[in-house]
Amino acid sequence: MSRSNDELKGYRGLSRSKLTEWGIRVWSDVQVLNDAGSMFEGVVLPRSETLDDLHIVIKMRNGYNIGIHVDRVRSIKEVGYKEAVYKIPEKDFPRSPELPNVTLLGTGGTIASRLDYRTGAVIPAFTPGELYGAVPELADICNLQTKKLFGVFSENMASREYIILAKTIGDEIATGVDGIVIGHGTDTMGHTAAILNFMVQNSPVPIVVVGSQRSSDRPSSDAALNLIHAVRAAAFGNIAEVQICMFGPTSDRYGLLHRGTRCRKMHSSYRSAFRTIGDIPLCIVNRDSFTYLTEDYLPRDSQRQVVTDPLYDDRATILYYYPGMSPDLVDALVEKGYRGIVIAGTGLGHVNKPLYPALERAIKLGVHVVMTVQTLWGYAQMYVYDTGRDLLDIGVVPLDNMLPETALMKLCWVLGHTDEHDEVLRLMRHPVNHEITEREPHNGYLILQGGLPETEEFTKSHWK
Ligand code: ASP
Repeated sequence: MSRSNDELKGYRGLSRSKLTEWGIRVWSDVQVLNDAGSMFEGVVLPRSETLDDLHIVIKMRNGYNIGIHVDRVRSIKEVGYKEAVYKIPEKDFPRSPELPNVTLLGTGGTIASRLDYRTGAVIPAFTPGELYGAVPELADICNLQTKKLFGVFSENMASREYIILAKTIGDEIATGVDGIVIGHGTDTMGHTAAILNFMVQNSPVPIVVVGSQRSSDRPSSDAALNLIHAVRAAAFGNIAEVQICMFGPTSDRYGLLHRGTRCRKMHSSYRSAFRTIGDIPLCIVNRDSFTYLTEDYLPRDSQRQVVTDPLYDDRATILYYYPGMSPDLVDALVEKGYRGIVIAGTGLGHVNKPLYPALERAIKLGVHVVMTVQTLWGYAQMYVYDTGRDLLDIGVVPLDNMLPETALMKLCWVLGHTDEHDEVLRLMRHPVNHEITEREPHNGYLILQGGLPETEEFTKSHWK
């Protein structure tokens, strides 16, 4: 059987000639038998530009993709042909007067993505309207209005985007919405949730940042459920803060709402990647209930006047200390005009002695230097060792249990207001929303170290 170039589009070199030899096209529905006698059924996908030309990629009936080396194909047969259509139609969201009004602001990330089979990469491609097309249950929860602000992966979020986002949130709240959801990449979701806590204060309604670890074309995607939980939290939840909503456990049993100043992505691929650090989460959310885990939050109050304060000066950075760090790094930052340095120090907040003179020089030149801890849990307590005391004497200011990224976001926000040293430090040490807490709860820090008898016993009784 001969095939046109178009039909073979996406395959080159060896695999392409193999496809011709096998009488197979891209988008053929095939049955493949490999040299181990296993049978695979599915659709031949266009090969990504980055994949080698020795494999064919098949999307199997269960939704997973597999690559099969051409030399391992014993037989392959076309049983059908169906070109896939990946575009999900934009649907107008139905409105019912009795449901709350929620605005979904799209910024990009995996939650707004599908797989691009040309590059083999996940690209931001869904608009919020398409997201509704993919998750129609949202219409049972609220009247959803969608606005696509950006279409970026979250490493590209920065001052410009934070400012636009904060202003848009203010404008949306002014229209009287009952809640706001922000679709966002997970990688820097913690940064955005933190900065929004400073830029948007005193909100009358919930502001819920949500993402997904797996794109919606994967069977294990967390996109739909996270979105449903987030929209519920925005429509009916009682927490009027900037919060993060993501999978709680690795299963889809429930989502968690985390305080935006205390939350961090702690796993690169698990769906349960987000954890509240230094505290417990705010709330458990599922399809029909909210279980609040604390009473210490700002409750919804439609009379409250939001304060948007979208100022940001990005001349601040994090210095993640490592043994042997050279003082020229500090000098270089000062020379380049950085006004603030957040140190992520070892243990209780330490750096090596050779750094002291450089830090002292920086502080004398008016650079604001603050200390956080790499351990993430616990407090910078620089009075415990004499080395810590020396740093305090130089003028390095401890930020107690503020997370390093939250400290950076806050420092950029504070620097947007003032460069006056005492005022910068006063604002940094004065919590806006629990970025510094007086104590960390006894049940907050919990690491289930597998392999230990007590952990094995516990997980056995809880693992389903
Ligand atoms: N790289 C993506 C992002 O942060 C990951 C994700 O969305 O989960 O935009």
